[in-house]
Amino acid sequence: MIRLSKNAPCVCGSGRKAKGCCGAVLEGAPAASAEALMRSRYTAYATGNIAYILNTTHPSSPHCEADRGAWARSVRAFSEGTVFVGLDVEFTATSGETAVVQFYARLERDGADVSFRERSRFQCTDGRWLYLDGQPESPAG
Ligand SMILES: [Zn+2]
Repeated sequence: MIRLSKNAPCVCGSGRKAKGCCGAVLEGAPAASAEALMRSRYTAYATGNIAYILNTTHPSSPHCEADRGAWARSVRAFSEGTVFVGLDVEFTATSGETAVVQFYARLERDGADVSFRERSRFQCTDGRWLYLDGQPESPAG
């Protein structure tokens, strides 16, 4: 598991120091955009911040589970069993309170490449961006 170090380059690959990127968002500052929220969720997965994943999932998301304990355990199993190699945000489209972010997450499990591309939808409610759902995308080109 990766530890978030405030003055180190952020885990999400933005090139900024963690404290000016996902660090602040993980500590409670509202994400400035859907992309910032998406990046902070990647960083939360990579650093094992399970509560953050649950708290930034929209209540109407199909990923929301009524049994919060079981949900947290499955998120933790994914987080702990995965090596978070890197993140590429490919595009973002924001329209009012909704946004789409397409990203490529470079991941490994048990030494195998399990990287994937996803087009995620986000919703802004009361000034907070939340993850709604996502569609896997086939690799480009
Ligand atoms: Zn970041």
